[in-house]
Amino acid sequence: MVTIKPNAEALEILNSVEDLELLFIVSKLVITESDINGLDLDSGSILVEKYDHVECERCRKYFEEKDIVKISLEEEHNICVTCNEIIK
Ligand SMILES: [Zn+2]
Repeated sequence: MVTIKPNAEALEILNSVEDLELLFIVSKLVITESDINGLDLDSGSILVEKYDHVECERCRKYFEEKDIVKISLEEEHNICVTCNEIIK
């Protein structure tokens, strides 16, 4: 999980991107106006943390349990909603 407190210039760029999680290749990305770790830097701040949720066995991204579909083939598999639509 990546949390970004961007400066004004970076915020404008980030807002122009449709899928930031795809761009950053992360499971979860949050843009905040709050200080990260008490830092208020002119350049902005970034916090990278482990996103400890359920892994989709197809795309390998992590999701909250509510966004996972359990599919049964020979055994049960965890698949995200997006991948489930693709493999139907
Ligand atoms: Zn998936």
